[in-house]
Amino acid sequence: MRAAPVLALVAVLATASLTACSAGESAGDAPSGTSIVTTTTILGSITSDIAACADPEATVTTLMPIGTDPHDFAPSSQQVAQLVSADLVITNGIGLEAGLTDSLDNAVSDGATVLAVGERLDPLPFGAHADDQADHADEHGSEDPHVWFDMARMATAAEIIGDALAEGGNTAYAECGTQVADGIRSAESGVRATLESVPADRRILVTDHDALGYLAEAYGYEIAGTVIPGGSTLAEPSSADLASLVATIRTEDAPAIFANTADSTTLADAVASEVGRPIEVVQLYVGSVGEPGSGAEDYISMMQTDAALIADALSPEAR
Ligand SMILES: [Zn+2]
Repeated sequence: MRAAPVLALVAVLATASLTACSAGESAGDAPSGTSIVTTTTILGSITSDIAACADPEATVTTLMPIGTDPHDFAPSSQQVAQLVSADLVITNGIGLEAGLTDSLDNAVSDGATVLAVGERLDPLPFGAHADDQADHADEHGSEDPHVWFDMARMATAAEIIGDALAEGGNTAYAECGTQVADGIRSAESGVRATLESVPADRRILVTDHDALGYLAEAYGYEIAGTVIPGGSTLAEPSSADLASLVATIRTEDAPAIFANTADSTTLADAVASEVGRPIEVVQLYVGSVGEPGSGAEDYISMMQTDAALIADALSPEAR
């Protein structure tokens, strides 16, 4: 059995120094109207909640539109300019925003302050969950960016974001970060109950790319295989990879393939059609929250929706 997740306490807070305090302000003033940029809709959701609590005049701009695959997003030139003018830029980091790397590096050279919050959340190596899978060996040595699938880590992220924003002089951000973190922690118990309602021997995840390692580790699931090898959606599987996955699905008797709402399910559908028995392809909210009305429009409801979709697809009544 896998060990319970160890959440490292992040003692060193963001070194981000905000520029919201103008020279004329006294130290006791709480500056308002902080301008914050986030990369993913998930970080946008959490940061918006913190900002709405701490400073009604703050603006939170999320670079990625809803439904975007974060591995495959490139910013407009207007968005690149926003990186430099923001008081704080909040990214996931750990290589998630592959199409933003150069823009972020350039923005830092031009004076932008970037908080790569995922890198402060004790990232797991890829394959940490695949304790019985030798074919993930090539992934060792790199870290998995999909930290948001562990809600305990994202509660810590809310505290780190609040503390970083409080360095601009408005201490309400730190309190609001704690409040949002508490909300995530209390929602986690429901998500955990949903995921733990699946019998242990059916907690088998086959996914479109290696995105659910944190969920597997935090909530007691096994990643049996992935359609696209590795932790990005940008790689392409060989026909041998796909044949091997079909064999794994048969051996493990996996009930479903979990794809994501931001990408085509063509490959997952092709694998499903080779299995020789009906197998459901379920689209989860993986790299982005859902559209308004989807029931997954913020971070917490996205996790609740995904947990329900996983439990429905894997429960013994599903077949
Ligand atoms: Zn991903």
